[in-house]
This record gives sequence, structure tokens and C-alpha cells, in this order.
Amino acid sequence: MTPSSGPSRPLLNRRLAEFGTTIFAEMSALAVRTGAINLGQGFPDTDGPEEVREAAVRALRDGRGNQYPPGPGVPELRTAIAAHQLRNYGLSYDPDREVLVTAGATEAIAASLLALVEPGDEVIALEPYYDSYAASIALAGGTRVPVTLRPREGRFVLDLDELRDAVTPRTRLLLLNTPHNPTGTVLSREELAEIAKLAVERDLLVVTDEVYEHQVFTDENGTTPAHIPLATFPGMRERTVTIGSAGKTFSFTGWKVGWVTSTPELVTAVRSAKQYLTFVASGPFQYAIAEALALPESYFTSVREDLRAKRDLLSAGLTAAGFEVYRPQGTYFITTDIRPLGDSRSHGGDGFAFCRALPERAGVVAIPNAVFYDHREEGAPFVRFAFCKRTEVLADAVDRLKAL
Ligand SMILES: *Cc1c(COP(=O)(O)O)cnc(C)c1O
Repeated sequence: MTPSSGPSRPLLNRRLAEFGTTIFAEMSALAVRTGAINLGQGFPDTDGPEEVREAAVRALRDGRGNQYPPGPGVPELRTAIAAHQLRNYGLSYDPDREVLVTAGATEAIAASLLALVEPGDEVIALEPYYDSYAASIALAGGTRVPVTLRPREGRFVLDLDELRDAVTPRTRLLLLNTPHNPTGTVLSREELAEIAKLAVERDLLVVTDEVYEHQVFTDENGTTPAHIPLATFPGMRERTVTIGSAGKTFSFTGWKVGWVTSTPELVTAVRSAKQYLTFVASGPFQYAIAEALALPESYFTSVREDLRAKRDLLSAGLTAAGFEVYRPQGTYFITTDIRPLGDSRSHGGDGFAFCRALPERAGVVAIPNAVFYDHREEGAPFVRFAFCKRTEVLADAVDRLKAL
């Protein structure tokens, strides 16, 4: 018996017990305490386009979206999402039956898994994985089966044989992410074609997280490794739930406007879960994002070019500081290997110890990629830096990293 009168049973249920605290909270607190530059958490330090902010203000003033919007999302936004998928990818979706607006991509992921996964079903996810995947699979009672991306020739690569071997009769769903956070890998047409073939062969559902679809960079030779939605491959539209987010595309992460495009049956299933999570969210912001999605191509190009310059600035700085840099093809994250810094400076290649010491040593905060792995040892030497920050902030970080 303890003298305290609080409940004696562990409070957090078994499904969530392993997700008690996140590294982001610890590292962001460390950044505040030490005055370090926070390249840990991936949010932009400038807001998206002024005219989109104004559109939100206008919607709010005009009383559009201040009360519960329709469950599937406001028609203006659903129409704009469908037009965006058609214009960019030639994918045609019916705004009324095949588009669902969610409270960010996070809710789209959670609702998809809660709707489609039976307890005991296996869900294959690329490792390292975005942190909400593991928790959402757990909430749905699924078993996560990670397939590890490994560095090869400067890029983190998916081993297609390993993916094939990971599929069992209990596999229900592939949870993909391209462009991939945290490695910056953009799956190629060939890789996606193989994944599509496998999904059709083994009758799998696929949930693809494509929130970085507009953050794909031009290569040295001037070619852009285009983002290709998995839903464009033969047999895939029928079994794929595609997820997008205005937070990443337009730099309004606080607005929490995300969406799902899929078949009427899959959208209805996801909506069944979604309606009991938030029911609806972000009313006035939905109208603003409808306008954002219709911005001219030049907007998307300029965002991409701006980010590419930032990627190159931080990549060069990290390389000069002694890191091995996996230059990302997409997203706004750079994954590095700390081992080339040497045994003592890299804390024996232990990314956790390295990131805990980095604010004091160099005044910069980064995230140890190990938190994105089940196989922690696989991720141990990798550390992630975000470059969605103002150029002068990145230049300052690069300067500070010279202290290493
Ligand atoms: C940021 C992020 C999300 C979450 O997006 P929200 O729209 O903010 O909920 C989902 N997936 C990946 C890979 C992300 O990086």
C-alpha cells in the first residue's frame, strides 16, 4: 500500500504504454533552456502566403466555417483537392464521394488505420517511420512490421525483396511515405511499380502519406525526380488511400487541414472513424486552403527552389563540419551519419547521446533518428536536421556547427 490516494494502476493503457513521452518535447525544451537553434522539430519559421492568410481572415469575418462545417469538408475545398490531384497527377476523384477533409494528415493516418485494420492485422511500414504511425497502428490494435530503409550510394533505399518477404497472410495494409521523412528519399517510378505489383498480387490495402508531394528537388543534372502518387499505378486507385496536408504544402502547420482521396468505399470507411475523432475541424481555414490549392504553378516552383537552396546550404555546412550527409531528394529534413566525426566527437556513434550534448557543444538541436526505428541499433548513428527555417537561421546554425 502506498500512502498516496491516487489510482494505483498504471494510467496509460497497454496499447499506448510505449509512447509515453516524445523526444521532440525533450529536445525542444533543451533548445529553450540552452538558447540553441532548433533544427529538431519540423515546422517552418515563417508563415505561408499572405493572400492565403487573408483568405482565412475573410472566411472568418464572413462567417464561413465558424460553425461545424459539413462532415466530409466544405465543398469548395473538396473541389479544389480533386482539381489539384487531376492537374498534377491526372488522377480523377469525385469531390462528393472520393475526397475527405481531415484534421491534418495526422488524423487522416489515424482514421485510416482505425477504420481498416482489425486487431491482430499486420501493418507494414517503412522504417524509419513518422512517429504517429506506430501509435496509430497500436491504437488500431494492429501489429507493426517495419521494413528498414538502408543507406546505399548516398540515398536511403528500400529493399524490395525484404518488403516482399515481410508480407504474410495476416498483412492487411502497407503504410507508405514518399517523399520520406526523415530520410528524404523519394521512391522512384520503378520502386513504386514493384510495390504496386506486390500490393495487387497479395491483395493489400495501401495508405500513402504524401504530405511532402510539393517538396521534391531538382537534381544537379536539372532533372526533378517527380513525386508520383502510388494511386497512379495499374490496380492501385482501387486499393489506395492517398493522404495530403496543407500544413506542409503551404507552411500553415497550425491550421491542421489535411485530406484523403480514394474510392467511395474507402473514403466512407475512413470517414466512419474520422467522424468520432474530431467530426470536423478547421472551418474557416478550409476555405483559405481551397484558394491556396488554386495558386499558380509559379508559387509551388518558388517554394521548391527556395527550399532547395536551403537544403544545399545546410548540406554543405554539415559536410564541412564532418558529417556524412544523405542529401534529400525531397522533404525538408536532412539525415546525417555522425560516425565520420570520430569516436569521441560522435559519442561512439550514439545519436541519442550526441543530440543530448549538441546544444551545449554547438548551440544546435537535432533529432536522433533512432526514435523512428523499432530496430534502434539500425538507426543509432543517424541524426536528423530540419531546414524549413529562414536562411539567416540556417547560416547561423552552419556557423555554430563549425565548433564541432
Ligand atoms: C508532418 C507530417 C505529418 C502530419 O501532418 P499534419 O497535417 O500536420 O497532421 C504526417 N506525415 C508526415 C510524414 C509528416 O512529416
